[in-house]
Amino acid sequence: MTGIEQLPVRDELRGKTPYGAPQLDVPVRLNTNENPYPLPEELVQRIAERVTDAARTLNRYPDRDALALRTALAAYLTRTTGFEVSREQVWAANGSNEVIQQLLQTFGGPGRTAIGFEPSYSMHGLISRGTGTGWLSGPRRADFTIDTGAAVRAIAEHRPEVVFVCSPNNPTGTAVDRGTVTELYEAAQAAGPSMVVVDEAYGEFSHRPSLLPLIEGRPNLVVSRTMSKAFGAAGLRLGYLAADPAVVDAVQLVRLPYHLSAVTQATALAALEHTDTLLGYVERLKDERDRLVRELRALGLEVTESDANFVQFGVFDDAHATWRALLEHGVLVRDNGVPGRLRVTAGTPEENDAFLDAVRAVTKETP
Ligand code: PMP
Repeated sequence: MTGIEQLPVRDELRGKTPYGAPQLDVPVRLNTNENPYPLPEELVQRIAERVTDAARTLNRYPDRDALALRTALAAYLTRTTGFEVSREQVWAANGSNEVIQQLLQTFGGPGRTAIGFEPSYSMHGLISRGTGTGWLSGPRRADFTIDTGAAVRAIAEHRPEVVFVCSPNNPTGTAVDRGTVTELYEAAQAAGPSMVVVDEAYGEFSHRPSLLPLIEGRPNLVVSRTMSKAFGAAGLRLGYLAADPAVVDAVQLVRLPYHLSAVTQATALAALEHTDTLLGYVERLKDERDRLVRELRALGLEVTESDANFVQFGVFDDAHATWRALLEHGVLVRDNGVPGRLRVTAGTPEENDAFLDAVRAVTKETP
């Protein structure tokens, strides 16, 4: 049998493991930051109608520029952030991972580097590597906020072409304030000019307003978003960005022709028609997230402030042993490798109760 070691894979991929959380069949799965609420039945019906329409012309390639979808996404952003966004400022792809890949293909690549402030979303580093972009791991404070001074120094020293700012940050839940983003942007322009990519995959769950209005007057700032979390549509694979129209023009250089299927575009348009219902679920999840923070703290655990749909908690002598113990109680959470910490996604009230019961049981077993 041929192993991957025998194949002539690129040097930088040798010995690496693919990204992925364990897919285990467990009663309570709170490990991948999914939305626990299935799409409402009216929306399921609307998707069926729109996809049926799209099916009638599947002999043709889809709208390559996804104009109707980008118009609807721009309207959604304008409505929810109060900042006027036009279709020309929006671009969509198959999940925000693909958005990030297109940005790195456009602005990173061999001989160039990207920086992120870790612990953060590990795909920023992995997609960098996959696109031949060097990866630099910038620092965070002990409380998981970005140390702006240290970050500015790292940017000045290494002059990366791409700077990732994840807000709210995965896996810590930490939001980044506007001042930090503008300071990092100034540092990146002085050292570069470089692109600053604000990953707002969890933006809708934040206590704070979106960082999106910062794209005004900052042509090298990109905000990326997704329908995987707030829209409860992780299976759809729809991510998007907002930025200066020139950025949208630039990513056209690397996007595959017709990358976004007609079925995807039809489904996303249907979901956007049901924004109000879906944002109602987001409000419920925010309340549940805040409850998890309170109740975990009441159990004496250290909980990182969260603006996302998940909560980082600890501190455990052996986080992986606690992860395993929770699994034995039928609850799957995530061990992101942050020393002493685990991450739990806010689920339904019943799932969160089951999780909290499991934590109570496990912390009693291992005081
Ligand atoms: N950014 C962050 C911070 C994430 O946590 C995720 C998903 N885990 C993504 C981007 C990618 O999401 P998707 O490709 O589903 O849009």
